[in-house]
Amino acid sequence: MSITAIASSITDGPTPAIGSPALRVERLEVRYGRTTVLGGVDLEARSGEILGLIGETGSGKTTLARAVAGLAPVTAGRITVDGTDRTTLHGRALRTARRAGTVQYMFQDPLRSLDPDLTVARLVGEPLAVAGVPRAERGPRVREALDRVGLDAALAARTPGALSGGQRQRVALARAIVGRPRLLLADEPVSALDASNRNHVLRLLDRLRHELGLAVVVISHDLDSLAGIADRIAVLYRGRIVEQGPAEAVLDRPLHPYSALLAASAPGPDPARRAALRLLREPAGAIVPGGGCGFAHRCPFADAACVAVPELGPATGVTAPGPDQHTAACHHSPDWRARLHPGNAVRTPVPDTATTLSEQPR
Ligand code: SF4
Repeated sequence: MSITAIASSITDGPTPAIGSPALRVERLEVRYGRTTVLGGVDLEARSGEILGLIGETGSGKTTLARAVAGLAPVTAGRITVDGTDRTTLHGRALRTARRAGTVQYMFQDPLRSLDPDLTVARLVGEPLAVAGVPRAERGPRVREALDRVGLDAALAARTPGALSGGQRQRVALARAIVGRPRLLLADEPVSALDASNRNHVLRLLDRLRHELGLAVVVISHDLDSLAGIADRIAVLYRGRIVEQGPAEAVLDRPLHPYSALLAASAPGPDPARRAALRLLREPAGAIVPGGGCGFAHRCPFADAACVAVPELGPATGVTAPGPDQHTAACHHSPDWRARLHPGNAVRTPVPDTATTLSEQPR
């Protein structure tokens, strides 16, 4: 896509067709010195879709979002947004792409991300000013964005300090959508909100992705906040996607023991879930020094097969390729679940070359 096309795609382009590719991440690597933060990540998000990206602290999910937004250095791989390979843009083309605002990042804490001295009108209008939208057009666009997120235009003259937490997050959302981006990266968008505001913001994201044909990546450490709205879920562990697929499948029938641990850890009275959680927190099986599956030191099902790094692959019997395919990076994804009930042994014999790590810190 040319620079002119990139610039003109902001703010006035037609609503993208629902289901069209908005983001494609291929074999993405991010390294800081000798530390690999992301190692070969593949991901896709489509217009009108909410992709949930889940992982614990340090899994690399924020680095992944920052790399897509151009805020973290890419060591290898490709990031394509709305047909443009962002990893090949440099200099003027990169600056133009950034100003166009095709990708918007919504931060976890709006109090920190919003300039406390600017009014709501200025904050929401800023992306339009940066993109070169004429001043006369900005006012109506700001009012429209505030209306879309359910904020009264009377709040436009206030500063962030004079707003509630929920209102601030909606200002951040209005600012993110005012330039009609193709992709919204929402980093823990509801973790700082109370239950009522949390539901409100999640419902807004759900509505806006349809109205604007927006692809939304919701980053979270909490499966519960993804359960109601995500179409698909990708699970990140130590810089690698270990499972992805339709949200219902990942939540109800995870293929990777780590995803199962996350699902079982969600609050709730379900006794089966609690029993699964107990077993998944069993001491680890065995790993071979120097490599293999990155989850092996925590996995009760680790055995000799886990010496080799597992690649993302489909569940047994699932053959349809594409982003809707349910895949996991686990050698035992077809069979570990059969061992997941009380009374069954969860370990298999380990060869002499392996080291048994019985009580790794968790
Ligand atoms: S590959 Fe082995 S160690 Fe890794 S998650 Fe699967 S069973 Fe556990």
